[in-house]
Amino acid sequence: MKKEKILIVDDSEMNRSLLADMLCDGYDVVEAEDGLQAITMMKKTHAQLSLVLLDIVMPHLDGFGVLEAMKKNRWIEDLPVIIISAENASPQVERAYALGAADFIARPFDTLVVRRRVINTLLLYAKRKQLLGMVEEQIYEKEKNNDLVIDILSHIVEFRNGESGPHIIHVRKLTDLLLGYVLEKSDKYNLTSDDISIISTASALHDIGKIAISENILNKPGRLTPEEFAEMKKHSAIGAEMLSGLPGYKDEKLVRVACEICRWHHERWDGRGYPDGLRGDDIPISAQIVALADVYDALTSTRVYKPALTHEKTVEMIVGGECGSFNPLLLECLREHSAQIRAALRSGSIADARSRKLRSVTTETVKRVGGSASERTLRLLDKERVRNSFYAAMTEAIRFEYTAFPPMITLSEWGAKKLGLNETIVNPARDEALTRVLGKGGWEDLEEHFRSTTPENPRVRVECVLHYNGASRWHRVVAQTLWSTDDVPLCEGVLGIVMDIHDAHLKMEELTQKATRDSLTGLLNRGSAREQIELRMKEEPHGRFALAEIDIDDFKRVNDQLGHMFGDQVLRELARRMSHSVRSSDICCRAGGEEFFLFLDYNGRIESTIDRIYNNLCFEIEGRSITVSMGVALSAAEGALYDRLYRAADAALYAAKQGGKHRYRFYDKDTMPEAWTPPRWC
Ligand code: GH3
Ligand code: MG
Ligand code: MG
Repeated sequence: MKKEKILIVDDSEMNRSLLADMLCDGYDVVEAEDGLQAITMMKKTHAQLSLVLLDIVMPHLDGFGVLEAMKKNRWIEDLPVIIISAENASPQVERAYALGAADFIARPFDTLVVRRRVINTLLLYAKRKQLLGMVEEQIYEKEKNNDLVIDILSHIVEFRNGESGPHIIHVRKLTDLLLGYVLEKSDKYNLTSDDISIISTASALHDIGKIAISENILNKPGRLTPEEFAEMKKHSAIGAEMLSGLPGYKDEKLVRVACEICRWHHERWDGRGYPDGLRGDDIPISAQIVALADVYDALTSTRVYKPALTHEKTVEMIVGGECGSFNPLLLECLREHSAQIRAALRSGSIADARSRKLRSVTTETVKRVGGSASERTLRLLDKERVRNSFYAAMTEAIRFEYTAFPPMITLSEWGAKKLGLNETIVNPARDEALTRVLGKGGWEDLEEHFRSTTPENPRVRVECVLHYNGASRWHRVVAQTLWSTDDVPLCEGVLGIVMDIHDAHLKMEELTQKATRDSLTGLLNRGSAREQIELRMKEEPHGRFALAEIDIDDFKRVNDQLGHMFGDQVLRELARRMSHSVRSSDICCRAGGEEFFLFLDYNGRIESTIDRIYNNLCFEIEGRSITVSMGVALSAAEGALYDRLYRAADAALYAAKQGGKHRYRFYDKDTMPEAWTPPRWC
C-alpha cells in the first residue's frame, strides 16, 4: 500500500529530524526549512500530501503566512495542518486554529502524542473525504452489507471520543435485542425483520456528529460547563445534517433511519430531550430505542469521570426514571428481559469479533509506528531537558541557544521573562527589543566573540551591560560554540548562559550579613551595631539620639524553670517586639545573652516614646510573664560619643535593677555613678 505523505515545515533541523524519526516508519516524510519553501512544495504537490506539520516561528515566511496561503488556495480544506508550538494555550495556537489549523503538538515532542495526533488528524480528514465517499458508493451500488463501512465510521468516532469500551457495538446489540422484544409484544410500530436489521445497523452511526465537536470538549475529563454542554448537544443535529447531505439519502432507507437516529437519540418521551423537544411517539421508534441503549451502555461503562454501574443497578435507574423518561413499552421490555439482555451483552458475537479485529488493526498501526530506539532516545532527551531547566531555574541563569543559519536566538522561558524578550528571536541583529537590552552594537560584539572561537577552543566568556527592568546591570555571558563532525568542521550554533553579576554580589552580601547578625534573633550583633551607631553619630554630630540598654529580669530563673528552649523563645519574642517598636532606620541589637540595645533618633518628647517602647517589651508568653529593666541615655545630655553614651545607659540600667527591676531609668549623672563598670564594646 502506498504510504501517506507528510510535510514537516520547521526551520530547526533538530526538530525536523526528531519528527521524521517518529513518523518515517509509517509515512513518507518530506521536509521544508521555512514557509516559502513549504508553499513552493505545496504548489507542486499538495494533492499528494496527506498532512502538514507546521512550525510557527520561521524565517522568510512564518507558520501564519503558510496557513494564510493555504487558505487562499483552498488547500487547507483537504490538507490538514498540525501546528508545532512551544506552549499549550498560547495566543499563537489560537490564531493558528482561527486560520484553519486542525490540531497542535506542543514541544518538547512526545513520540506517542505526535503519532497519535497524526493518526487522529489523518483519520479525521480521511473519513470526511474518503469514508463518507465510500458510504456514498455503497449506497449507489445498493449493497446490502454496509456493516464494514459503518463499523469503520463508528470506530473513528469512538477512537476520537476516547471511549474505552466498544460502545457502538453494545448500543447496536442492545438496539437489536430491544427491537426483537418490542416486535414480540406489540404490532404498534409495524416493524419487520428487515427494519430491525436496518435500525440496528444504523444505530452504529448515532454519534457520527461528534466528528465535528472539538476534541477538548469530547475528551474533557470533568463536568462540562453549560457552554460546552450546549456545544456538545449540537452533535445530534450535525450528524443528521451530514447524513441527509448524502446523495442517496432520499432513496436509501438505511441513511434515512440513521439520520432519524442521529437527530433524535437524545429526545425523551416527556418532551424534555434535545434538539427538538419531541414527545412520545413523535420520536421515531428507532431513535427511542437507540436512546435507551445509549443510556444503558453509558451507565454500565467506565468513563473518565465515573465508574461502571452493574446491569441490575442500571436497569433499576432507567426503569425508575432517573435517566429521563422513556416509552413505557420499552421499559417493560427492558425489565422483563433483563436477565437475557445481561447474558447476551456479556457473550461474544460475530460483531464483537469484527470489532476486535478492527481494534487490533488500529492498535497494530499505533504500535508499528511506535516503540523504536528513537523513542527511548527522546525520553532520555526529555529527561535531560527537565534536568537542565531545573538547574537553570535554580542558578537563575538565563539560558540561550543561537544558530547562525538561520540567525535565531532561543531563550529559556525564565530568561525571556526576566529580560522581557520573546523566547524566540529571529534575526537578532535587527531585533529592536534585543537591541534595547544589549545596547546598540551589543549583539554584533557578542557575535564577534562567538566567531573568534574554534572547535579546539570553543568557550566564550565576556562581561557586558544589559538594560532591562529600568536598570542597567553587568552580566557575564558564558557560552560554547557547537561544531559539526565534518572534515572541515562547521559552526552549528552556540549554547550559553547569562548571569547577573550584580545578583551574585548581592548574594555575597547576604552571606556576609550572616556574620553581622545574631543567629538566634536575626538582630545585629554587638560589633556591627556599634559600627552603625558610630556612623550615625558621625553623620549627624548634632542629632538627638537615645541609646537604651535592655536586660531581661531573672532570666536565669526562666531558663532554669522552663528550659533553654523556652528561654530562646523568649529572646526571639523580645527581639521581634523590639524591631516592631521602632522605625526601620533605628538600630536594634542583641549585645549578648539576655542583653539588648536600641538606638533611635528623635525629634519630639523622648519620654513618651521610651515609655511606649518599654511597655511593649514586657509581655506574657505561654502563661509566663516576662519583664525587662531598661537604662536610657540621651545624646543631648551626654554628647555624640558612643562610648560615653553607652556607659551612661549601662549606669541607668544598673540603677533600674537596683531599684527593684521591671522599670526603666533615664541616666542622671547626679544620682548614678558612671564609671563603675568597664566599657564592654571592645
Ligand atoms: P537579672 O534580673 O539580674 O538580670 O537576672 P538574670 O537571671 O536575668 O541574669 P543573669 O545574668 O544571672 O543570667 C542571665 C541568663 O541568661 C544566664 C543564661 O543562662 C541565660 N542566657 C544567656 N544567653 C542565652 C541564650 O542564648 N539562650 C537562653 N535560653 N538563655 C541564655
Ligand atoms: Mg449522543
Ligand atoms: Mg537579666
